[in-house]
Amino acid sequence: MDKNQLWQTILGELELIVSQANFMTWFKNTRIASIEENNGLVVIAVPNSFTERWLRSKYHKNILEIIQNITDGKLKNIVYQIETFPLTKQTVFSSAVQVIKESINLYDFNPNYTFEKFIVGKGNELAHAASQAVVKNPGEKYNPLFIYGGVGLGKTHLLQAICQATLKQKPKLKFLYTNAEKFTNDFVEAIKAGLMTKFRKKYRSLEMLLVDDVQFFKGKEGTQEEFFYTFNTLYEKEYQIVLSSDRLPKAIPSLEQRLISRFEMGLIADIAPPDYETRMAILKAKSAERGQVLDQEILDYIATHILNNVREIEGALNTLIAHYELYHQPVTLDLAKEILARSIVKPAHGSLQIREIVNAVSDFYGLRVSEMISVSRKKETTLPRQVAAYLLREILETSFPAIGKELGGRDHTTVMYSYEKIKKEMEAGGKIKEQINLIKKKLNLV
Ligand code: ADP
Ligand code: MG
Repeated sequence: MDKNQLWQTILGELELIVSQANFMTWFKNTRIASIEENNGLVVIAVPNSFTERWLRSKYHKNILEIIQNITDGKLKNIVYQIETFPLTKQTVFSSAVQVIKESINLYDFNPNYTFEKFIVGKGNELAHAASQAVVKNPGEKYNPLFIYGGVGLGKTHLLQAICQATLKQKPKLKFLYTNAEKFTNDFVEAIKAGLMTKFRKKYRSLEMLLVDDVQFFKGKEGTQEEFFYTFNTLYEKEYQIVLSSDRLPKAIPSLEQRLISRFEMGLIADIAPPDYETRMAILKAKSAERGQVLDQEILDYIATHILNNVREIEGALNTLIAHYELYHQPVTLDLAKEILARSIVKPAHGSLQIREIVNAVSDFYGLRVSEMISVSRKKETTLPRQVAAYLLREILETSFPAIGKELGGRDHTTVMYSYEKIKKEMEAGGKIKEQINLIKKKLNLV
């Protein structure tokens, strides 16, 4: 059993249920140190005792479940073992001074996140073209470039592709890739340690800045202010800024107006879920990379069953390939169905499914699901639909486009609007809040 292969597959599955920031923080420098098949033991190497404790207390159950699933229960015991890594690679709990000193391009880019490996389709062609333009003429045409789209649709891939192409084509350009969470932590640490001058120097002396997942800035006023000045400094010097977010600037709750208008100043490029052709092209490219072991009908099965998220498409493919590589057993369509039924598209929230939430809402309002998601704009159906959108987002963190699809093929901007509207009403308290609490009770969530 190839332990690296196995660990990559497990990480692929974990990525689906853990937020990107947590994933980077806790799983970055982990690997399988060894496997003892005769007593079903896996030894997972982690970089420090903190990670060890964290994995043990927060993610052990998930890791175990995935390992058992992939190996058909052959591996069922996990031991964590601490391994020391070089300092520069640690992302967590390095002291503030190290964070500030961290030199510009130490970030480990994912070698797969390049333009060469990015499949272009209808949903992402604008974001892709704009990203390439940014490498060619940074700061000139689209500044800032704001890429937005649902989870797992390639935002991070594109941002890192920009970085990797820039490293090759303009090796002297001083740029930094980070995410809003890291920027925030960096800022907080700098304040605590009294190192704001250094902090400012680090960010304001850049010639290009890429910030992933800026929706994370929501509600963080101090950080927003600091970022505003960073942004202005670079922008005035006509240096390129690239941002990504899972929603439009306007739709990021409690983002200051002045930042919203800055974010909207350049080009806003959205990434929509891939259509069938793109899903198929992605599957073909990724399976070819891995040595093409799966039949067309199996790829077709994946492409027709996983619709909204490239990460999940990859996860399904990896699971099947790992099964093949681990057991040297040909993957038939039936076997694929069986394996995938067990492992794919598990929602991030326990076992609760989109359908159950939609059903609970329509039930509560005494409607049939078909009525609730119909084209009707009558108040009796509009409100339940908005509540369903709100709950899907709030509980499962379903992407807006995916919610739109679930609720009768609605546009994601409509869904965003619904979500924001109900959210405001929730904050104001009153009837809606009561209703939503009752629905949550029905779902055993409160
Ligand atoms: P996001 O940041 O939008 O949540 P990621 O960039 O992390 O999504 O993408 C999730 C996974 O899907 C990554 O492994 C990425 O390489 C892959 N992926 C997404 N879009 C594409 C694409 N168009 N072509 C190839 N791989 C893609
Ligand atoms: Mg991302």
